[in-house]
Amino acid sequence: MFSFVPELKNKIKRIPFAFSLLPSALFILTTAILFLAAPAIAQRVQLSPANPRLGDTISVVIQDASKQEAKPTVTMNNTTYPMFPIGASTYRAFLPTTPLERAGVRKIQVQVDGQVENLSVNVGDRTFPVQRIRIVSSSSGGLEPTQHELDRVAAFRQLVTPEKYWNGPFIPPSRARRSTGYGVRRYYNGVFAKDYYHRGLDFAGAQGSPVVAPAPGKVALVGKLAEGFRLHGNIIGIDHGQGVTSVFLHLSRINVQEGDLVQSGQVIGAVGSTGAATGPHLHWGLYVNGKSIDPAPWLAQTME
Ligand SMILES: [Zn+2]
Repeated sequence: MFSFVPELKNKIKRIPFAFSLLPSALFILTTAILFLAAPAIAQRVQLSPANPRLGDTISVVIQDASKQEAKPTVTMNNTTYPMFPIGASTYRAFLPTTPLERAGVRKIQVQVDGQVENLSVNVGDRTFPVQRIRIVSSSSGGLEPTQHELDRVAAFRQLVTPEKYWNGPFIPPSRARRSTGYGVRRYYNGVFAKDYYHRGLDFAGAQGSPVVAPAPGKVALVGKLAEGFRLHGNIIGIDHGQGVTSVFLHLSRINVQEGDLVQSGQVIGAVGSTGAATGPHLHWGLYVNGKSIDPAPWLAQTME
């Protein structure tokens, strides 16, 4: 009996000590769980390119996502982008970057099968060429867009449809020399236009020379000068699927109708100077989830 009491005392003393260890134990346990869970997702997520620059399209691919759960999503800088299945239990999202953004680290959050993984990617800086434009007040009179054309073009750019129409790299929509590159910034009468960048590639094609589809897709916009497309001129919009869209401006002729399915290399129209164009040329804009991105990587490789 006598020996029991000191033993009990000793135990009572130990309890607060054990409680003081509890937070550290929980911390170690939580860390261990995170450590075990995190690589599981991280190993299944691939970001490419490894070193993107402003204007690049960042591809996020998740493998071994379960089919039963809700579709995985990817969030970058508070914007959530849709993921689409590109194979058995493999999903992909395209994240656009533009010359209007600042270079630096982007936090990317991947939600898959009820788990969340935080990743980051550094978007490198890039110097875009600069144009200095002088505007004489009398010259801007006829170039005001109509609300109708702005609404139609904006609605077209927001298209995110599930079917992926393209396979393989895109091809240039014109054989002509490229006159103005993607991302060119401008000064108007010496003032930097902070919201402007050249949202596409210009091709110095002759009046009437062919314009071809750069990749398969569905014609989702046909707009004509006569219907109020004063700024864009005669325009075609192709939906390549899964948030990837193309626009072709200033056309002299349109060979397709809304709803047509077109193949890569198929003639869709001809170069012109309708709308706000100082001379015949083709403007091709490639958009990812509503943002104009650099078409160069899409021409150079297959974007899955
Ligand atoms: Zn252009």
